[in-house]
Amino acid sequence: MPEANSLSEASLGILMSVVTRIGRFAPSPTGPLHFGSLVSAVASFLDSKQYAGQWLLRMEDIDPPREMPGAASQILAQLEAHGLLWDKTVLYQSDRQDSYIEALNQLKNKGLVYSCQCNRQRIVRLGGVYDRQCRDLQLQDDNATLRLCLDDNTGTQWFDDQIMGRFEQHLNGEVGDFTVRRRDGLFSYQLAVVVDDEFQGITHIMRGSDLLDSTPRQIFLQQCLGYRKPEYAHLPVALNQDRQKLSKQHHAAALVAGRESVNLWMALAWLQQRPPPVLQRLDVSEILNWARSHWQPQAIYPSMPASAPEGY
Ligand code: GLU
Repeated sequence: MPEANSLSEASLGILMSVVTRIGRFAPSPTGPLHFGSLVSAVASFLDSKQYAGQWLLRMEDIDPPREMPGAASQILAQLEAHGLLWDKTVLYQSDRQDSYIEALNQLKNKGLVYSCQCNRQRIVRLGGVYDRQCRDLQLQDDNATLRLCLDDNTGTQWFDDQIMGRFEQHLNGEVGDFTVRRRDGLFSYQLAVVVDDEFQGITHIMRGSDLLDSTPRQIFLQQCLGYRKPEYAHLPVALNQDRQKLSKQHHAAALVAGRESVNLWMALAWLQQRPPPVLQRLDVSEILNWARSHWQPQAIYPSMPASAPEGY
């Protein structure tokens, strides 16, 4: 019956648009892409595209002192050269101040934010977990750090990570009232990331496991702000020969231009996707087509080999 068929196709179409997966890659422009960031980009791209979803790009440029001039455009050019083409336009966090202020006001109106004048040395002495000394002082200081009040009953936050399994953290005991705006007026990564994941409608977050212990704070903020909670998957991070995470701080080498096919192949091999060797000779779009139709996130396991390949 043609009518019944077209009806079911239409309902399928509606269903598909309702369940669209939206992933993202959110680099900080502290330097060009290195092997570790390429792995996150490739994995989040495939994880979105395998389900015909969208892959959005967000430039997390809210911390000028840590940024490197030119890095943002270099990252975009590197992604393009690797065939990692994003949907929609790039969202720059530097354009999003008004939204962060709005979210902060929402938290303030709920009485969840207070000013804190304690200096860094004191926090270090406390072992990083703030003891709430300034909580009841009602300081009116716009140049102070702003902290989020954790509820005394905030017990253990947990979530089921799609790679790492269940992750639990006792927010009060292990993190304490955390910063939402720094003393220098810059918004914290935790607040900005939560506001923007909601704004961009992100449904699936795949990123490095160095951010695993930030996730309970982000879920808590989502609850305070009445946002949706995305699904999370944290990838093992690639380590250098000294067993440190590849990062600008540890002088990770930028990806070499002209070796994009090999870089992609190496990232896929590192992600345990078993790309056939012949793939290295193809161009990036052919490699990504193969990877899309063979993507097996379940092949990524928490303790998989973490060393970056030789030469990266
Ligand atoms: N901007 C962060 C970074 O480059 C990543 C943020 C995220 O994926 O949540 O490490």
